[in-house]
Formats: sequence, C-alpha cells, structure tokens
Amino acid sequence: MSLHLVQLRHTAREMRFEFVGSTRAEQEEMLIAAINHFYKVTDRLYVNIATPALYTVHLDAKGGNNFQKQDQIHFNPLNLTEWTVTHELAHSLDSAHGWRLSKMMREHTGSGFRCKALHQVWPQWKLFWYRVGSPPPPCGIDKNFNAVEDFAETVTAFIFPEEAYRRAAARGYPYEKWGYGNFHATLRGRFLAKLFEPEKQTALLS
Ligand SMILES: [Zn+2]
Repeated sequence: MSLHLVQLRHTAREMRFEFVGSTRAEQEEMLIAAINHFYKVTDRLYVNIATPALYTVHLDAKGGNNFQKQDQIHFNPLNLTEWTVTHELAHSLDSAHGWRLSKMMREHTGSGFRCKALHQVWPQWKLFWYRVGSPPPPCGIDKNFNAVEDFAETVTAFIFPEEAYRRAAARGYPYEKWGYGNFHATLRGRFLAKLFEPEKQTALLS
C-alpha cells in the first residue's frame, strides 16, 4: 500500500491517492505519471468544489476498470494504460461536480438517447444507441455509450489527442469523415478547452 499526493496549483488543496493491491514499480510510476498529468490539465476545475479527502485506487488482476462510489477507483493491472487511468479519473472529476459536466456537454453538443427505455430493452439495436450530436465522437461509440462515457472519453481524448485519433480511425470513426484532422478542433475538443480556461468557465458553468 502506498500514498500519492498531488498539489493543486489553483487551490491550497492536495489530492490524495492510496494504492491498494499489488503493482510493479514501473506500473506504479505510470499510474502516478497519469494522475499528475490529469490534474495538471484539469486543475482549474477543482476550484470551489468539494472532493473526497482520499481516493482509494484498488489494483486487482481479477477485476475490471471502473470508478465507483465517489472515491473508489478500480483498475486491473494487466495491460493497464495511461489512457484507462485518465478515463476513470475523468469520471471522478465529473462525479465531484455532481455529474454536471457530462450533462453540460450533452446539452452543448445536442447529444442524447432517442428513447432510453427502448435502448434498455434492446441494447444491441444501434438505432437506439446514444446519439452523438456535433460529431465526431472521441473514439467511436458502442451500446454502452452515454453522456457520462462521452465526457470521460472526451477528457481522455483531449489529453491524448494522437491516441484518440488512432483509436477513432481503428473503430471506423475517423475524424476526417467530419472534416477534422485533430480532436482539439472538434466541438468536444473546443468545449473542453473553454472549460479549462477560467474566464470562459464562469459563463459555461453559470
Ligand atoms: Zn467509463
């Protein structure tokens, strides 16, 4: 078990992460690098919000990757990447804002389910999948895609635009299809750029 602290630049606070479970030294270094990188980019969004006193990061080779219960993050250490770490941290950011950030992005991009009830009955039926307004989606969509996943993928794509470009193309959603060459130029990319700039953030959050 070990503890990692991240000092936020825009507040006098620090974020605390406790790692539980076995991890190799180089993997712990990767986790720490991904966490530090995440807060460097998203730092300003932690001003004036309450966050958990401590995030517990569970590393379990038999489990999956997910964010749970406000302050619990689970990772499977097998094949764990900075992409996955960033994605789950993005959920924790959205959660710290009462899931308001994903809702704001859904409204800003004109996205949403045509009929959520039908999607739940027939999850395989593409017609009822989450409709991505203002495409492209960060890295394609599937039956599990929704506003919360859209936001987490958007934050991750913003931080790793080259990896996002590659993933989107590999899944059949190349940005060129919508006339873009880089994620930062898309509406989602520009939405986040505004969110990370405090003077524009005030207008967006009000
Ligand atoms: Zn997710």
